[in-house]
Amino acid sequence: MAKGKINVSVENIFPLIKKFLYSDHEIFLRELISNATDATLKLKHLTSIGEAKVEYGNPIIEIKVDKKEKQIRISDQGIGMTEEEVKKYINQVAFSGAEEFLNKYEDGAKDTGIIGHFGLGFYSAFMVADKVEIITKSHKDEPAVHWSCDGSPNFNLKKAKKEEHGTEIILHIADDSKEFLEDSRITELLSKYNKFMPVPIKFGMRTETLPKPEDAKEDEPAPTQEVDNIVNNPNPAWTKQPKDLKEDDYKSFYRELYPSQFEEPLFNIHLNVDYPFNLTGILYFPRLSNDMNLQKDRIQLYQNQVFVTDNVEGIVPEFLTMLRGVIDSPDIPLNVSRSYLQADGAVKKISSYITRKVADKLNSLFKKNREDFESKWNDIKIVIEYGMLSEEKFFEKADKFALYPTVDGNFLTFAELQEKIKDHQTDKDDKLIILYASDKEAQHGYIETAKGKGYEVLLMDSPIIAHLMQKLESSKENISFARVDADHIDNLIKKDDTQISKLSDEEKEKLKADLESVFGEKSSYTVQLEAMDSDASPFIITEPEFMRRMKEMQQTGGGGGMFGMGNMPEMYNVIVNTNHELVGEILNTKTAKKKSRLINQSLDLARLSKGLLKGEELTNFIKRSYEMVK
Ligand code: ADP
Repeated sequence: MAKGKINVSVENIFPLIKKFLYSDHEIFLRELISNATDATLKLKHLTSIGEAKVEYGNPIIEIKVDKKEKQIRISDQGIGMTEEEVKKYINQVAFSGAEEFLNKYEDGAKDTGIIGHFGLGFYSAFMVADKVEIITKSHKDEPAVHWSCDGSPNFNLKKAKKEEHGTEIILHIADDSKEFLEDSRITELLSKYNKFMPVPIKFGMRTETLPKPEDAKEDEPAPTQEVDNIVNNPNPAWTKQPKDLKEDDYKSFYRELYPSQFEEPLFNIHLNVDYPFNLTGILYFPRLSNDMNLQKDRIQLYQNQVFVTDNVEGIVPEFLTMLRGVIDSPDIPLNVSRSYLQADGAVKKISSYITRKVADKLNSLFKKNREDFESKWNDIKIVIEYGMLSEEKFFEKADKFALYPTVDGNFLTFAELQEKIKDHQTDKDDKLIILYASDKEAQHGYIETAKGKGYEVLLMDSPIIAHLMQKLESSKENISFARVDADHIDNLIKKDDTQISKLSDEEKEKLKADLESVFGEKSSYTVQLEAMDSDASPFIITEPEFMRRMKEMQQTGGGGGMFGMGNMPEMYNVIVNTNHELVGEILNTKTAKKKSRLINQSLDLARLSKGLLKGEELTNFIKRSYEMVK
């Protein structure tokens, strides 16, 4: 019927397509099935408004693999194309699309972040095939046509025999793409890209077991029948209205998304906007206590139910990339690099919408069932704390539902905490002192002392907590965090009944000199004499809040290099209770040897209780202690 030359500026576009998209040949199937889906949905629309005279019926898309003939066939029952349309859409539109895409891609070739390689469309077929045929019949009353092209800009067009409307694409698979002739590879691609596409996709047949008839004998096998093997779910949960879904529907959709996840999600957030951009989706909060699967099973990005990528960096705020689920939006530009994406206005709006939705959901969960929210807190706090640190808007909203657990297992909001401690937990400048522990076991003694004095002690054990405290201190008025072992409790918090020292100034000076001469070798310890209750510990080791926090922040990043400090030195205070009997004894001991032994043993006990005594020093200490007990 016709031969022709496709009008294209490069002599042969196909080697280019292969070269540029080297790593992503597999997307050809997604692209062709997307076209088949579009053609089907267009027909649905036309029949619904009475513009197409044919019956819509129950169309499916079928994939066939013929290993012997080295062919893959993709057929649909959609609108099809007339001869004119093939010339226009395939020879011109599709080709110019491919060319435009390549130009764009060439610019960004170094920038590997182009998402999903969308936009190449029909011509991606030439990444895997050395010849492509189209047999198509329009829903309009016109003869079917047969188009073929061997990868050069020359094409062939003739009449075809085809009765039913729709399109069949025949790929003659090239020798270097034989992997796609394996059923298992096609199955893998279908489940990766087409799992939730809106038109049923058939790939082969499967055997279905039917119920046994009433009169069947006991050992008679149940009857079976061959049925179409439909590989997708055309109506995934996120495309439905939240009001039509129950808790169980969300859970079973989670299992559908992540078949290898055994644990149930903690809760879900249904996203649904159509203005000023279009976005649907369901996000799940997984239990994050075991972070082994963090990189696996991530949020998936779809465009009109076609899978694009599971790397949503730049679209979802970073702290939410720990969540799971689906986002579907036609408004995210995909054939652009990630750096462009992050600057895109629509994408920024999407990102802040998601942040707001997540904050609102958390707030409503907190308000609706606080007890339940508290029980989940430890599994979700890392996301919330990270969000508070990285997104100012989220920080503001989180103030209502962020919880601060106490060492006794109570959960307080910041406002509740403030209210609880405002009258008795302040320093000499009336600053609110928030006491916390990071390890209940290691800091047991310090916690007990603080609790004994009626103070509230929080348990703050997240890896990023030092950063969060810094953030809270700088954004809230007149508060300060101090770990229970940051200083002696009476130095941290103002007390009315100051103790009077039993020792005279002269005695104190002598004691200090004695201690320092023994500590001399351990220069990281600074002696600090305090008059305390006589039953408080004689020696207490503390580590200044500032020094310790800087060290922690260096370890978790962020604070690192902030002051160009390199490695922070170890620095501790030894608080010596001048009112304790043992301290009096040290002062009054006559022989230097005995005195130094008493001091060393006391210091080691204090170090032991702070977890600082390790290795050889610990072994020696234990040996020495046995000697003394003997
Ligand atoms: P895009 O789908 O992005 O428009 P393509 O290169 O994939 O670009 O396809 C170009 C055009 O060819 C489509 O817009 C459509 O009009 C037509 N087309 C492609 N595949 C089919 C098909 N299976 N059935 C009907 N028309 C098709």
